[in-house]
Amino acid sequence: MPLIIVRNDITKMNVDAIVNAANSSLLGGGGVDGAIHRAAGPGLLEECRTLGGCRTGEAKLTRGYDLPAKYVIHTVGPIWRGGGFGEEEKLISCYKNSLAIAKEKGCETVAFPLISAGVYGYPKAEALRIAEETAAKFLEENDITVYLVIFDKASFDIGLGRFSEICEYIDDRYADERAESSISQRRRYEADYAAQAQCDAVNAARPAAMPVPKPEKKRKKSIFSRKEKAEQLMAEPILMEEARDEAFGGAMPESMAGAEFPDIRKTLDDLLDESFTEMLLRKIDEKGMTDAECYKKANIDRKLFSKIRSDRLYKPSKPTVLAFAIALELSLAETRNMLMKAGFALSHASKADIIVEYFIERRNYNIFEINEALFAFDQALLGA
Ligand code: ADP
Repeated sequence: MPLIIVRNDITKMNVDAIVNAANSSLLGGGGVDGAIHRAAGPGLLEECRTLGGCRTGEAKLTRGYDLPAKYVIHTVGPIWRGGGFGEEEKLISCYKNSLAIAKEKGCETVAFPLISAGVYGYPKAEALRIAEETAAKFLEENDITVYLVIFDKASFDIGLGRFSEICEYIDDRYADERAESSISQRRRYEADYAAQAQCDAVNAARPAAMPVPKPEKKRKKSIFSRKEKAEQLMAEPILMEEARDEAFGGAMPESMAGAEFPDIRKTLDDLLDESFTEMLLRKIDEKGMTDAECYKKANIDRKLFSKIRSDRLYKPSKPTVLAFAIALELSLAETRNMLMKAGFALSHASKADIIVEYFIERRNYNIFEINEALFAFDQALLGA
């Protein structure tokens, strides 16, 4: 089940349990603790009084009272003292112990604030990394949806630090797209037509003795024109390679390299006709992944995955396609191809697309890092 970063006030989260970054007395305080007590009403403090406090890294459960959440899990994060005092282990324990309680109580959804990242002074980026890593590990084995609730934008100052390079990358490409002159547009169209001509030439050169096999099944009408498909093929040598490998059941004999074969043509046709679902399942097999490995790495809900799996013509959203592309560690060309199957394209008019492109180019397929960046730039997250 997925890990979802959201910007919200945790007291408003409609989940089974919210986690409180409490202090060891459990008798209320400032920050998120104060907000939770205010929203829950006096019943919460009364119950907290019976708990006898809580040690750093541990967690205790109460009811949610006037909160939308059924439970509050109170945990005490470490105070940041420079990093040499076991802060990281203690913070990991906070998440682990809180998740264990949520599981024990049968919670399906649980929301965390960034524990220790307020007055306890833990560096926010580090606190976020620990939250993500610990939750992701837990989610490998458990079916819970975990929300990380980010309250203030200060931890995501995009112009500085780790996001500054992405900022520049976006600026360059975003500007490129908008500045595309009519001349460059014409060049692009000319290149498109050249690609089509190249495709036609390949087809015309095919020996007459090798007729192109007719497709066996009736094709569904594609939303892409033949020309668009041809462009896609020409832009993707990888698809050609795939087709060859599939036609020859592995590597093609060297003596045949460069030759044209009807089998290849048939395989290309099959690949062109492949639906999104079929492509996804084929790629999962090719990568030697199990379904679960793939949807978990994609941060995709198991139920959504089964829906996709059982519907050959499933129409996924763009973030879902991109999440699978990341989980499968596809190249940019392959990602474009997979998007095309669902009727989408990568566009430099979209910041989200540019951000995903940035990570794929660097072969960084960590979906949480990508989602952090998307979050920082106020874009829809992948998966979930
Ligand atoms: P700590 O003492 O563990 O640092 P704080 O409450 O000071 O706890 O801060 C923890 C995190 O909770 C901070 O990132 C802060 O921005 C965030 N926070 C504060 N109020 C809320 C709220 N209402 N909802 C979600 N997060 C909040």
